[in-house]
Amino acid sequence: MRERLKILVFAAAVGSILGSIDYLIGLSYAIYELRGQGLSFLLVAFVLSQLLYAAMGAGFGLVTLIAVDLYRFLRSAAAPAERQLHLSGTIAGTMSGIFVALLFEAYAKIHSNWGLFLDFALFIPIGAAAGYGIKICWDRFLKNFLGAAMPGILILALSALLSAMFVLFWVLKGPLSITGRLAMVFATGVIFAASVLMGRMSLSKKSAGITAAYAFFAVLLLSLPLWSREPARKYEVLGKPQNPLNIIFIIADACRADAVGIYAGKNQTPNIDRLAREGVLFKNAYSQARWTFTSMLSMLSSLYPSMFVKGKTFLPPNNIEFIAERLKAYGYRNQAEIGNYILGGSSGIHRGFDRAVVIRHDYRLQRLFSCPVILKTHYLARRFLGLSQLPDTTAMITAKAMKFLDRRDEPFFLWLHFMNPHDPYNPPDQYLREIKYRGYLKPPFNPFDPFHLPEDQAHPQERDVRLGYALLTNNDKNYMRDLYLAQLRYLDEKIGEIIRKVESRGLAKNTVIIFAADHGEQFWEHGQQGHSTGLYDELIHTPLIIWGAGLKPGIVDQQVQMLDLAPTLAELIGIPPNPVWQGKSFYPALNRGTISSRPVFAEGLQMPEEMQMVRAGQYKLIVGLFTGRSWLFDLKKDPLEQRDIYSEKSSAAKELKARIADWDREKALLESRLHPSKARPEQQKELDERLRALGYLK
Ligand SMILES: [Zn+2]
Repeated sequence: MRERLKILVFAAAVGSILGSIDYLIGLSYAIYELRGQGLSFLLVAFVLSQLLYAAMGAGFGLVTLIAVDLYRFLRSAAAPAERQLHLSGTIAGTMSGIFVALLFEAYAKIHSNWGLFLDFALFIPIGAAAGYGIKICWDRFLKNFLGAAMPGILILALSALLSAMFVLFWVLKGPLSITGRLAMVFATGVIFAASVLMGRMSLSKKSAGITAAYAFFAVLLLSLPLWSREPARKYEVLGKPQNPLNIIFIIADACRADAVGIYAGKNQTPNIDRLAREGVLFKNAYSQARWTFTSMLSMLSSLYPSMFVKGKTFLPPNNIEFIAERLKAYGYRNQAEIGNYILGGSSGIHRGFDRAVVIRHDYRLQRLFSCPVILKTHYLARRFLGLSQLPDTTAMITAKAMKFLDRRDEPFFLWLHFMNPHDPYNPPDQYLREIKYRGYLKPPFNPFDPFHLPEDQAHPQERDVRLGYALLTNNDKNYMRDLYLAQLRYLDEKIGEIIRKVESRGLAKNTVIIFAADHGEQFWEHGQQGHSTGLYDELIHTPLIIWGAGLKPGIVDQQVQMLDLAPTLAELIGIPPNPVWQGKSFYPALNRGTISSRPVFAEGLQMPEEMQMVRAGQYKLIVGLFTGRSWLFDLKKDPLEQRDIYSEKSSAAKELKARIADWDREKALLESRLHPSKARPEQQKELDERLRALGYLK
């Protein structure tokens, strides 16, 4: 009976330690995410998570108990007591670790993300080491021999250190590279092996030496991921801009053009409208992709998305130059404050920035550290306690912008990437009160509710059904649209603060503010909500406004592409553009001149179907690359793209297809330059000739 009690206590201890490790990760992460949310919020979150992790620990303990019982039953006194102690400790720990890892593995599989799986695999050796350490501590402490328990205590301390460092890496530098992850797995494996050796020792001078050496190597191994950091690039100063204007580059994530008041009169955005009235308003600007990552890479590198999306790889080639890098070479101070976590990690998009901070606020990231059950409980608890407010990244980024503008070094390039009006639709209370709605939906309305698959994994129609969209009434749908518009009104309020700051610091005369978006958002215009399918205008027609620095007010009707922005900025401040950039400057339009309407291209490179789009004259053609299906719309007669006339207007379709073919050829030529090893000689020659004709090559 006493023996059983001992085992029970042991199992609970292992469970709670494992729970604590996860708890430590969760808590530090939560504090990082929720800082600035006020003490009462943190306290409630703290107590809540304490309860949750205690319950989780009890679950682990139970698994351990079963494992130990099973082992004792099978081995009953067949092995020497000491050996049994070692084995049972190890098995208990490993079982618990595997249990945690399995949970995460199942979860990682849902996301088809093996990188995450590697992170979670760490828990197997961590669990094994912790369980083993506990077992040694407990058994030896029972024998009234505290000294003998020391190695066990040390193992525990190292396990905790390992977890803490893992968290630290995450917080400081985002997801580790694959090498970094492998290094962590290797390090934990070594720690575990050393733990087993140490468990065999009692405390003596010799063992103290070995312990110290062990601790040293453990820490050394743990620092391996730091070496996986991309080496900092050096930027030679190439010269001085002729017109060194400061640039504040504001992106409103997922903001479709007609959500801005001045574009369609459907929303009240007085501050953005003011920028448009006093500056240059581009009525027909189009993004080159329908989601953040590809669109921003394209905009900032002035290259079409397919130049850096290769199969499943999304990395830009090393020999391209982002606008920030170009500006850096001409003496700019560059800073980025980014509210969309997807722009973190090693995408290369931070190249050229002196400081680039990605706020990892996103609830989706909680999934990395929590199994669905826990997350769901968090979610329910949040709702139950009225803790519906996700961290307000819009306020956080604005505060950082204010600070930057107080202590700026000029000339500067400040990229403020706001998550609003992107989902989860969760406007502050005063904006919520403006919306009249009777129904069951409650903000934050979040298509990524943990009950559902992430948007990119589910087939769009399946996603609709899963999200219960099929059950939504028009009233509910309007409510979602209203929440989205309110999200933008809140951002507009913050943009007002930024404009006032620019003016009060006397910066308006030498600073341009650019207001733009990476892509739009669908509200069932073509059956879907969100921004995962199609290349319809509600997804790629984005706002573009350029204000300040003495620019004369103007309205530009001609089509421009967002990737034209980088060469335009270069011309505006008087530096040469990078010859590789595919965009064409529309600078004359900023200077009361005229530009010709050029065809606009876009690419949808994600599932469920890769697509290409060209918009020229009164027609727009979308081509599906897998199915070969094409859609043609007459934008003059049918601006909402409701009637596909592909089979009726074969001459228009043929002409636009030829434009796509030309564009493909152009991309292939540049491709051969960016990846010279793959280039065919005649392609290289042709490209060089053209670059020479443009004066880029001598
Ligand atoms: Zn976006």
